[in-house]
Amino acid sequence: MKITAVRCHVLLDPGYDADATSSNQDTIVVEIETDEGIVGIGETDLNAWVAKACIEAPGTHTMDRGLGQMLIGMDPLDPRACWQELYVGTAMTGRRGAVLHALGAIDVALWDIAGKAAGKPVWQILGTERPDAVRPYASLLPNAGDTWEAFAAALGGQAIDAAKRGYRAAKLELLTTGPYRHTGLDVEDDRLVEVIASVREAVGADFEIMVDVGYAWTDWRYALSIIESWADYNVFFVETPLWTDDIDGYAELVVNSPIPIAAGEWLSHSREFQQYVDRNALDVLQPDVGRVGGLTEAIRVTELAAQRDLIVVPHGWKTGITVAATAQLAAVTPQMPFFEFVPPDVAESRLRRELVDDEMTILPDGTLPRPIRPGIGVELNPDAVEEFSRAARAIG
Ligand SMILES: [Mg+2]
Repeated sequence: MKITAVRCHVLLDPGYDADATSSNQDTIVVEIETDEGIVGIGETDLNAWVAKACIEAPGTHTMDRGLGQMLIGMDPLDPRACWQELYVGTAMTGRRGAVLHALGAIDVALWDIAGKAAGKPVWQILGTERPDAVRPYASLLPNAGDTWEAFAAALGGQAIDAAKRGYRAAKLELLTTGPYRHTGLDVEDDRLVEVIASVREAVGADFEIMVDVGYAWTDWRYALSIIESWADYNVFFVETPLWTDDIDGYAELVVNSPIPIAAGEWLSHSREFQQYVDRNALDVLQPDVGRVGGLTEAIRVTELAAQRDLIVVPHGWKTGITVAATAQLAAVTPQMPFFEFVPPDVAESRLRRELVDDEMTILPDGTLPRPIRPGIGVELNPDAVEEFSRAARAIG
């Protein structure tokens, strides 16, 4: 089998809010065509226009080839071999960051092709089936204006509703402090405990609450003082309390915090996780399947976690494509108690709700059924692609 074409779709929700701390208002979708008529799809989570440039830019020498150019003529049926060739071929600009994130979308599309060619869901060719069911957690970030009272009420209400609908875990996106405040919010740190306490009281003990503060703090001692005030509420993890480069600070928090420490959504390549893990600087690894470099690289992060007895709870804030790819990874990863899942019914983004047609729905016990369709298991909704492409062209 040979790759014959690579197409990038830059997509935008026409109702996007530039003050929202939400990366699923746009996306890049890569379609890879083959000479046998099989088409694979993938997406990744970075600036969609930058991702397109990373894929479509031509190369003029051996150290920095074009990703799209290299793919033409390649055999897609061994995604790991393709990954290595693309990684080495783009090394001068790539290796980490944007190009590796873009490679992640390509890698997911290649696994989609390989699964479809084999007539199997990707997890069956990716690894060994885990014994238990996979569990998404409801990741919650309402657009509720710029007052703490309205936001906390909406967020708490969504978490309590998720518990009623069968989810066994929810994350409170407390992006209300620090550099990435959502929709104009600006909240004193010592008020965050209010919503954590009220959700815990409403949902009871048999439900996991996660908290994401979006790189809120610059000093680990100060971060610890806030986190300690949540110690009575059995928080499953606190996500990205410190800036991503502050590995020293993370290591201090892991030793001192009463709540497990999670991060990794922005990291590319398993080597970036290795840097944290070697310093005992994380309790929970959070690779994003696209950003880390695709399923090929995400598997390496899960292997690293298994070696060090850590858990993996992947990041995933994109469309049904990312959900589908992450579910494939989860199906072969026993050290993954949950993965991030934006429930479509409360998602603000139309891309999350409408881009794919045939997404699996969660079961009443909060688990997802094992994927059975060939490939990653979802297909693009062509009407959505057309409308969201038009919206993207209007601004970029
Ligand atoms: Mg996050």
